Amino acid sequence: MKSLSRIREPVWLHLTENCSSFQARDCNACLNQIFKEKTFGNSNFEESSLFATQRAFDSYCQTCEKDVTFNSRIFLTYVTHSGLKKFGFDVCSWPLYVAIVHTQPGRLIFKHCKSPTNQLKMKSTVSSRFVFIEFAPEIMEGLIMYEKIEIDNSFYVLKALMRNHSVHFTCAIHNDKKWLYFDDLCKNVREFASIELIQQQFPGGWFFAVFELFCDNDVDDNKTASATQTKKISENQGIDNHRHTTFY
Ligand SMILES: [Zn+2]
Repeated sequence: MKSLSRIREPVWLHLTENCSSFQARDCNACLNQIFKEKTFGNSNFEESSLFATQRAFDSYCQTCEKDVTFNSRIFLTYVTHSGLKKFGFDVCSWPLYVAIVHTQPGRLIFKHCKSPTNQLKMKSTVSSRFVFIEFAPEIMEGLIMYEKIEIDNSFYVLKALMRNHSVHFTCAIHNDKKWLYFDDLCKNVREFASIELIQQQFPGGWFFAVFELFCDNDVDDNKTASATQTKKISENQGIDNHRHTTFY
C-alpha cells in the first residue's frame, strides 16, 4: 500500500498533463486519452506491438507523381454512436466497426502537398497483442459484450472489462478459465464461471474492454468462430433488448 501512494501522484501528474479530461479528476475521464502515442512515450517496435496495431498503406500522389507510404498505429478504438452510424451499424455490430477502423483508414492527406487520398492499398500489418476498446456513454445501453472478435484475420478473446456504475469503478478479469470481479467496496474478489454470469449480476455500465490476441494454430476452429461471430451479430441486429447478452 505504501508503494501505491508513492506512485499515485506521479501517475496522476503524467495523466493530467497529457489528458485534458483527467484534469477534473471526476468520473468523466476518457480512457481513449491515455492510450495514445504521446502518453506511451517513445516505444520500440516490440513494445508498440504489445498495445498498438500497426499498418502500412501504399498510395500514389497524382499531384506530385510519387509513391507514398502511410503508417497507421491504433492504440485504442473508441466506439461512438456517430461512428457506428457512419457505416450503418447498430450497437450490437460494434466488432464489425472495430475491424473496419483497424483496416480501412478512409481519407488521408499527403503530408508533403496536403492533397487528400482515399486510394490506399494495405502493404503490411502487425496485429497487436492487446486491443483496447472504449464505448461511448451513449451506446452503453444495450451493449452486448462478445467473448471473441475478429480484426484483420486475427482473433481476439475478451480478457478484461471495466465498469462505471453510479460513479463507482469496478473491473472483471479473465484468469485461469474463470472470471474475477474486483470491487474495492467489497472485501472479497468474486468468481464467476462466465462473463455472461457477471453481466447478469451486474448489468450495464461496462464501458472499457481489453482483448488479447488468440493464439491457436487450429485454423478450422478459427473458421468456426468467425462464422459464429457473423451469425451472432446478424442475429442480434434489430433486436430491441436492453440487456440482451449473447455469447459464444
Ligand atoms: Zn503530393
